[in-house]
Amino acid sequence: MTFNDLGLNKQLLKSIKEQGYENPTPIQEKAIPAILKHKDILAGAQTGTGKTASFTLPILELFLRSKEQHKSKRHIKALILTPTRELAAQVEESVRLYAKYTDYKSTVIFGGVKISPQLTALRKGVDIVVATPGRLLDHISQKSIDLSHVNYLILDEADRMLDMGFVNDIKKVMAILPTSRQTLLFSATYSNEIKRLSNKFLNSPTLIEVARTNASNEIVKQAVYHVDKIRKRELLTHLITHGKWKQVLIFTRTKHGANRLSGQLESDGITSAAIHGNKSQNARTKSLADFKSGKITVLVATDIAARGIDIDQLPHVVNFELPNVSEDYVHRIGRTGRAGNRGEAISLVCVDENEFLTNIEKLIKKDIPKVWLKGFKPDPSIKAEPINMGGNRGARNKPRRSGNRNRREGR
Ligand code: AMP
Repeated sequence: MTFNDLGLNKQLLKSIKEQGYENPTPIQEKAIPAILKHKDILAGAQTGTGKTASFTLPILELFLRSKEQHKSKRHIKALILTPTRELAAQVEESVRLYAKYTDYKSTVIFGGVKISPQLTALRKGVDIVVATPGRLLDHISQKSIDLSHVNYLILDEADRMLDMGFVNDIKKVMAILPTSRQTLLFSATYSNEIKRLSNKFLNSPTLIEVARTNASNEIVKQAVYHVDKIRKRELLTHLITHGKWKQVLIFTRTKHGANRLSGQLESDGITSAAIHGNKSQNARTKSLADFKSGKITVLVATDIAARGIDIDQLPHVVNFELPNVSEDYVHRIGRTGRAGNRGEAISLVCVDENEFLTNIEKLIKKDIPKVWLKGFKPDPSIKAEPINMGGNRGARNKPRRSGNRNRREGR
């Protein structure tokens, strides 16, 4: 199937071509025709599957087909909700790319930055708003946003939004939207909470499933390096320098750990920055831009800060520490091996983390190949000790529940 077969307007085909996309991805093949038929959608798709285009392109197409709206005053016609600022920024960037040859405008709304540029953009008028729930509610309560013409609501990474405690915020937003709208829900997992949300808010949705691209994706080569905790940094520097890695996203469990590791890598001569919830939004945006452009080699991130980060052809992901929540492993390694590119996900695992490793392998239903690198073999006399969770994460392998810290990150 080609994009032409999907019946998209030439203005959209032009931007698709410019992006270098040759064929629609499986989620795009399924979602685009259903959305064009005005169906509500419940789609099980993770980041990396091409899901952003799968909802943005048909919405733009429907805008283009609806000539009447096109001529009228610019109203917000589509609202896209995302769990994190980074994802909101990336989705809006994609929307802008796909809409490049149309007259439609978009803007992004999230917390942690000044509200005034957002007010200016809204006053000027936009067709599509991408927002995190917290800041959107601020705009709603100060009446700086008019959502009364929204025909399309997209809940992107809905499971993450629920995990982060946004369920009531989402419901509040839905309550003020026109009931005649089309609702598209995208979620990597299909939990009971997602089912409840979809039963309540979706109208006979078309179910769309595409193969998981992450854990089961053979183009992400996974490996576990067994190493003592105190030698992890040395091994990491060895891997980066000997492998001549140019771009590597590294995960730590805590914000403090991210800062410390980033500083240590710098002192090893490897350019690096850390991103996490204690960094200002501007600092996060700058680090991400430096990382994407190749100005720095390493980005050290916590799970929440890294959610939804979309870097084309990211070759390496390293788990400096394994996550205590197994699902986070799947999300972390899903940052690489995207849209058909090869990727490598390496986990540095010390004796304390063996239980986490067992749980992750249970979740992904496969054994990750193990490596004992010469010169870095663990000292067998070191015994496992309980892991300090850094104070802000849940009990081992229990799913996260809403917490103030998580919630603030979504604002
Ligand atoms: P997403 O799942 O929306 O985060 O998209 C993941 C990546 O796939 C992004 O870098 C997109 O630019 C890319 N992408 C989206 N659609 C296609 C396509 N049809 N062909 C190739 N790459 C695509």
